[in-house]
Amino acid sequence: MIPPRLVAATGNAHKVDELRALFLHHGVIVDILPITSLVDSFEVDESGATFEENALIKALAGYGMCHLPVIADDSGLEVDALDGAPGVISARYSGAGATDASNRSKLLHELARNPQRNARFRCVLAIHDGVRSVMAEGSCEGSIALEERGLQGFGYDSLFIPRGFDQTFGEVDAAVKHLHSHRAAAVAALVKRWTADPTPQVTGVADFLLDAVIATATGNEAALRFAAAYAVNVEDYLALYEAILQTYLFCGFPAALEALATLESCVMERGFTTSLVAHEPFEVEVFRTRGEILCRRIYGSVYDRMMERLDGVSPELREWMIVEGYGKTLSRGALSVVARECCIVAVLACTRRTTQLISHVRGALAVGASVDHIHGVIDALQRHGLARESLLLDDVLGRFE
Ligand code: IMP
Repeated sequence: MIPPRLVAATGNAHKVDELRALFLHHGVIVDILPITSLVDSFEVDESGATFEENALIKALAGYGMCHLPVIADDSGLEVDALDGAPGVISARYSGAGATDASNRSKLLHELARNPQRNARFRCVLAIHDGVRSVMAEGSCEGSIALEERGLQGFGYDSLFIPRGFDQTFGEVDAAVKHLHSHRAAAVAALVKRWTADPTPQVTGVADFLLDAVIATATGNEAALRFAAAYAVNVEDYLALYEAILQTYLFCGFPAALEALATLESCVMERGFTTSLVAHEPFEVEVFRTRGEILCRRIYGSVYDRMMERLDGVSPELREWMIVEGYGKTLSRGALSVVARECCIVAVLACTRRTTQLISHVRGALAVGASVDHIHGVIDALQRHGLARESLLLDDVLGRFE
């Protein structure tokens, strides 16, 4: 599945609009957000010699800035009579301070009285989601008009006549350009490639759950919304709800509750009518027993010591933890015990609580998590740019390998 939300690593609003329309045209519903709505500015040194290199440079740089799935577009015009110029420097063809208008006039000047006007637009798209990069290319053959015609589109559109047409891209409706353009061909190829190459199963614990708890622990609301966008049904949202709920012990109530409110609003935005906080039948004794059994399974011999330590907290909170937290929520079915423990390990690594991290890695392995599951958490921390935290977990895991 193409990530349901993508950050577009470009400052070019036209490209963002076109990408939105093109994905929709392929029946792929994806929210495309300009990176400039998340970071102050997006400037990268497009030092690559090809569209491919530059698309990847932009995708990786964009991911490095926002740690969310990114799409980058590198595109341009190749004119045969100019040996492929302007090519990768299409946006800055007329030098420092270049604008679309100054680039077009330079192109007309270079081709003055030249009857050989064959050209093509090329576009390379790259998606990078923190785990893998997928690229695809599209091109559109045509020729360069003798003068500018039309006001639609952007860049060289008013000079480019696609093969089989009399009008320039500047004169046709956006819908016509969307059927024939280089970007349209690249989106079609990207959708095909991404779908043919499903995301490798990294963890066995859905990555969006780990992403959501890490986003909660780091207070990154945008990342939480992105993680939530991977949920495809109410069951996924319930799993997210439970995963986030258990962060309360380590990130504090406000952070967990804020994240739950964000999640609830995501559910509403997606049009589900179910509220995640809908009241469940509440039977204290049943939940207490379930909670204690689960705690003992997870904490083993450290359970009693842990409970002693909890004597320091208020009796209400202690009751809430065992009954509501462990008993009611954490032993509910939406989240497997392994997934739950991996989420806790992720939160503890984020908050760098080494002692608790050690006992929860032990607990996770005791309830059936594999070393690969914990490696999945390490990967997730790296995806979020948490290098120190991922090293810490790697170190802790080393004690059990
Ligand atoms: P980039 O941001 O380095 O990829 O620059 C691409 C440049 O190529 C743009 O600034 C335009 O000048 C040109 N270009 C790319 N795609 C199109 C298009 O669809 N229409 C017109 N010009 C385009």
